[in-house]
Amino acid sequence: MELGIFGGTFHPVHLGHLRAAEEVREALGLARVLFVPAKLPPHKDARAVAPPEVRLDLLRRAVEGNPAFGISDLELGRPGPSYSVDTLRELRAGLAPGDRLWFLVGSDAFREIHTWYRYPEIFALADLAVMSRPPDAAPPAPPAALEGELTPTPGGLRHRSGREVRFVPVTLLDVSATAIRRALVQGRSVRYLVPEAVRGELERLGREHPHWFSGSLT
Ligand code: ATP
Ligand code: MG
Repeated sequence: MELGIFGGTFHPVHLGHLRAAEEVREALGLARVLFVPAKLPPHKDARAVAPPEVRLDLLRRAVEGNPAFGISDLELGRPGPSYSVDTLRELRAGLAPGDRLWFLVGSDAFREIHTWYRYPEIFALADLAVMSRPPDAAPPAPPAALEGELTPTPGGLRHRSGREVRFVPVTLLDVSATAIRRALVQGRSVRYLVPEAVRGELERLGREHPHWFSGSLT
């Protein structure tokens, strides 16, 4: 079985996430894509972020109705900050030997992956599906520090562990959670940026807890 793992802050989940995940699922023939919200993005101010249960609840509403999409709250129950490397290790431990784990990352996230905790291990733990994201339609360059460990292949790159880094071009939807938070704080519409199943609750949260959406996540 091939399984996708899609990590993120999801503050909030939006149509850019959902459509990209759907296209990767189809392109790679994944049985399931598991969305894994981060409890507290390392180095970010907890007061400026909606609590994890709130982001999880919005995610639940967003994936409802897609039988191939699921959610793991694994990072929420773990003490300390969430690190993708720990999440992948934990999820891998629960799989059958023949199962294949694909870690989905947008090209912007991939470009910064060398700043992630113990990032070289990520390349050995899962195959990477790197999704295009505006403004870039082209594959991003891999981290320079991994140059000797990655070999070009017709489909992308191969890590010396044998795992793949595959670029998956998806429909370029220039939707970001940052822009959605800004719209919420300014009382502007978020319709057609998030699923309708999420919109009402999100607008209510924006009115009642504007501070959750007014901080910067970067
Ligand atoms: P923020 O603006 O707060 O950073 P975001 O929209 O980038 O939010 P994240 O939760 O940071 O959302 O992203 C989680 C993952 O989804 C990352 O790997 C990111 O690259 C990817 N992603 C987010 N939006 C898109 C999009 N529109 N197209 C493709 N990938 C996306
Ligand atoms: Mg982001």
